[in-house]
Amino acid sequence: MEVHCEGCAGCCIDWRPLRADDARAVEHERRGPREPLDDAYNLVPLTRDEVRAFLEAGLSDALTPRLWAAEEDDAAAEIDGQAVATIAGRPAFFVGLRTPPKPVAPFGRDRERWLETCTFLDPTTLQCRIHGDELFPDECRAYPAYNLALEQETECERVERVFGGERLREDDPGQTDGLLLGRGAVGGKVFVHPRPDDLEGVVSRIARGDLTDADRAEFVAVAAASSPGTLAISEHHYEQARERVLETDSWAGRAVREWQRRDAAGEEPEADLAVRLEDARGAPGTPGWDGR
Ligand code: SF4
Ligand code: SF4
Repeated sequence: MEVHCEGCAGCCIDWRPLRADDARAVEHERRGPREPLDDAYNLVPLTRDEVRAFLEAGLSDALTPRLWAAEEDDAAAEIDGQAVATIAGRPAFFVGLRTPPKPVAPFGRDRERWLETCTFLDPTTLQCRIHGDELFPDECRAYPAYNLALEQETECERVERVFGGERLREDDPGQTDGLLLGRGAVGGKVFVHPRPDDLEGVVSRIARGDLTDADRAEFVAVAAASSPGTLAISEHHYEQARERVLETDSWAGRAVREWQRRDAAGEEPEADLAVRLEDARGAPGTPGWDGR
């Protein structure tokens, strides 16, 4: 896809606070079949193999689940007073990248507020720290082709509409082989939790944005132990993966905690914080836009 991304990052951040007058755009970018229980915007869903790759790379503490509210005629599991969307009686979920508040300044705006941002976005350059890396998610590599293939408005077009300029430079999505839909996505990108009773309390914490490390580890482990095209979970792989996630303490996870702490403390979203909180902890650098 040909897109003009310099100074944008519209698909990597929650820029709803900058477009309060543009509410109609809000729901469309929420990926997945139903209304999410969480409030993350532009959450990037990962495939089973990508979840495993993040696990292998020691970055599984950058991952988080997404579950959905059941609609009226859906099969549902009642958990914490919430009807949760299920497949074959098991709560369905994505695993995506965490979105802590960061001091980003997209679209030529001043760095005036914290905005929820993908863990891997460098808030200084507005470039992706894993672009070109083997961990770079298929959803990001393809963006916005899947939206175009599904005839959904793209984030690029929304940015154009609100801030002007030309972002989307072609509208042919080309090959969209990675676009998993329906039953074909089960076990490959949409996972199912085999023990709904274990999610008591977790569903409430998702809705409050208050997940624990153990909660996240549970979903990452189930996803890593899933098999594309089936509902089966390998208990052996689940146990191994869960232990591994709980042991993981990467630059990304540490930075997320620090971003959240500073935002909650009402600190100023200063431009140079990313150097101290991410780069100094081992985050891969980004090249900047000069000469690109
Ligand atoms: S919204 Fe479009 S133009 Fe902006 S960073 Fe994402 S892909 Fe690039
Ligand atoms: S992985 Fe990179 S491209 Fe994808 S949302 Fe995060 S920062 Fe953006």
